[in-house]
Amino acid sequence: MTTLERIDLHTHSNCSDGTLEPSALVAAAIQRQVQMLALTDHDTVAGCNEARAACAAAGTAAPRFIPGIELSCDWLGREIHVVGLDIDMQHEALQAHVGLLQRLRRERVAAMGHRLDAAGLPGSVLAQEILAQEGSATRMHLARALVREGHVEDTQAAFDRWLKRGRPGYVPAQWPDLAATVQCIRQAGGLAVLAHAQRYQLSAGGLRELAARFRDSGGAGIEVSIAGISPGDTDRLAALARRFGLAGSIASDFHEPGIPWRPVGRFAKLPDGIQPIHEELLRRNP
Ligand code: AMP
Ligand code: MN
Ligand code: MN
Ligand code: MN
Repeated sequence: MTTLERIDLHTHSNCSDGTLEPSALVAAAIQRQVQMLALTDHDTVAGCNEARAACAAAGTAAPRFIPGIELSCDWLGREIHVVGLDIDMQHEALQAHVGLLQRLRRERVAAMGHRLDAAGLPGSVLAQEILAQEGSATRMHLARALVREGHVEDTQAAFDRWLKRGRPGYVPAQWPDLAATVQCIRQAGGLAVLAHAQRYQLSAGGLRELAARFRDSGGAGIEVSIAGISPGDTDRLAALARRFGLAGSIASDFHEPGIPWRPVGRFAKLPDGIQPIHEELLRRNP
């Protein structure tokens, strides 16, 4: 079996809150000599056909393409992200799940628009513009609209001042349960991967509980080599992978060019003793 070294199994396009079209994402990945690429937009597979076609058109220079998704879900009141890799995009249960998430997202952005109205911003107008576009509606779209209209300096300020939990525009999301989400990915033939677990602000014990629940629900892997992560966090995620028998994944969580610490195609090696999930993907797609 060929050994792949340049892997990226977590990226976004403008079908959710990334800025590149799927084919432009593929072009960026080719430039960075990525050998295996998963497109994992938030709660949609809308970009996967275009990305796959762009890979096919580029021939041998192109990465192997893995259709994927990043599903928002709930575990004990916390928002957790689960990446589904090598999913059957047409699968009925997955399509139904995605349909529910798209509805929740649209309702949430509309509700946040009203909250922003009450705070004196043109929230509903901006929300309606976002909802008129295709693709997953996210808080990042509201953040970019607030920047564009001159209400805040940059998207980070938009979150900090208006959009994050506790701020005037925030509306909590009612995401589906973690176990149901993992099962949905499995039903669609995919491998479920726990995304960026270092970001959930959990204690060591809490992280172990999450990883245990995730594994017992049918989870296959956990992101370990993550762009911009500290060495200490990598060690903690690697320890979780070993303890719970989860395979390791490599993830940039790429959203847009120009963020130096988060380019597409991060190429970081997995620590020793971790089963690479890309080897399983290679076996499935020889
Ligand atoms: P949503 O899934 O609609 O809540 O949108 C969340 C997206 O916005 C995430 O995927 C991030 O890209 C971005 N985001 C969320 N929280 C923050 C934050 N506190 N600061 C900056 N960006 C954020
Ligand atoms: Mn995002
Ligand atoms: Mn995420
Ligand atoms: Mn992501």
